[in-house]
Amino acid sequence: MTARILVVDDVPANVKLLEVRLLAEYFDVLTASSGPDAIETCENGKVDVVLLDVMMPDMDGFEVCRRLKSDPATSHIPVVMVTALDQITDRVRGLEAGADDFLTKPVNDLQLMTRVKSLVRLKMLTDELRLRASTTQNIGIEELLSRSLADEDSLPKVLLIDERQSSTERIQKVLRNKAALDTVKDPHAGFFQAAETPYECILVSTDFTDFDPLRLCSQLRSLDRTRFVPIMLLADPGEEDRVIRGLELGINDYLTRPIDPHELTARLRTQVRRKRYNDQLRASVTQTIEMAVTDGLTGLHNRRYLDSHLQTLFDRAVARRRPLSLMITDLDRFKAINDTYGHDGGDDVLREFAHRLRKNVRGIDLACRFGGEEFVVVMPDTEGAVAEKVAERIRAEIARSPFAVGREGKTAEITISVGVSCLLKGADTVNDLIKRADIALYEAKNSGRNRVVAKAA
Ligand code: GH3
Ligand code: MG
Ligand code: MG
Repeated sequence: MTARILVVDDVPANVKLLEVRLLAEYFDVLTASSGPDAIETCENGKVDVVLLDVMMPDMDGFEVCRRLKSDPATSHIPVVMVTALDQITDRVRGLEAGADDFLTKPVNDLQLMTRVKSLVRLKMLTDELRLRASTTQNIGIEELLSRSLADEDSLPKVLLIDERQSSTERIQKVLRNKAALDTVKDPHAGFFQAAETPYECILVSTDFTDFDPLRLCSQLRSLDRTRFVPIMLLADPGEEDRVIRGLELGINDYLTRPIDPHELTARLRTQVRRKRYNDQLRASVTQTIEMAVTDGLTGLHNRRYLDSHLQTLFDRAVARRRPLSLMITDLDRFKAINDTYGHDGGDDVLREFAHRLRKNVRGIDLACRFGGEEFVVVMPDTEGAVAEKVAERIRAEIARSPFAVGREGKTAEITISVGVSCLLKGADTVNDLIKRADIALYEAKNSGRNRVVAKAA
């Protein structure tokens, strides 16, 4: 994971110290020695994470953070405040200024790398969403993004798996108004509960009398339903090795006892935010794929989908020696509909047609808009004679009652012509199948329209 980290400190030796350690992990490092410098760098460059010293002359870290977070051009850049060891008030002020995380001086290597990597991952997700927002106007990513920001107010659903009552109570107190927290003492019970409930973060204590907490983490990572849920380890001092092994297993973050309430809140927020972005990204990918294969007017699959999927259905039918049928329908004298009712009226008819079509085919049938006012239905496991009956039923359903057109209560009599073909034994291809249905359709048109013609061969 490569990313650009901006280190801000007025003391050159401090800058050097962090720079060397980040470079050793192959991060790109930028530096700034004052608040205004830092802000300028963030505005101009591609900064992924800011490590921000609190104590600086002229403009202190809080003010820098506040300005970064209030400018839309920089507000999405994660900020880590680097505070003096025992300055609890600094953390509160940092949170108020919008900081995403804290590190205390002297900065511990493991903490530095875990926090930075975690925030870099979060930043990459936001970047991905922002990129999509700018390149795909049509699929509502902007709306998704703004919804996600609003969503940050909703309480995250969190599970704490911790054997010790006193520790459980302490965490309950910290997260009282900050999370919807469930608690479980037994690690086995915790695992099942995590599998059954859509948590947004799982806190795992390392302190079980008779159970390896890392086993629990690895089980959570390997189960489908919990694979993407962030896990935070609550470790005891001196457990660095265990934490490192946990990170290798895929836990997302850790805290060392005694748990600092502000740290817990800030880190939980980062993990939950990342999970929510992640979920939205996945959902928007799914949505993009759906849009790409769906006809916008009718909601049926489009030609592109048919082209890729028909071959699959065809191959499967051949391999299993199962029948396969296909019909092409074409609306009769549709030009006249457009001429009489306008193009919008024509669109109404196409939508209503798709609706009636969908009601009259089975779930496993593939109904597509082939183009214009032509539609194709592919029917797996269906003999030609059955397909002909289905086609006849659809034809009758279309002709049975007039279509509503526009808002003024006008109606139009609509009929369709249908060509049916079925898979033949021996040499046959997808194109043959479509061609035969097309020839049948042509015959239906020529012999008077509003009828079904089937082509056996
Ligand atoms: P027939 O099929 O019975 O021979 O006559 P037709 O009038 O339907 O003939 P043709 O296939 O030549 O005309 C199809 C018309 O469908 C032409 C085109 O303007 C119209 N059309 C195609 N796509 C759309 C659409 O998305 N919306 C509307 N309103 N009309 C469309
Ligand atoms: Mg037509
Ligand atoms: Mg046509």
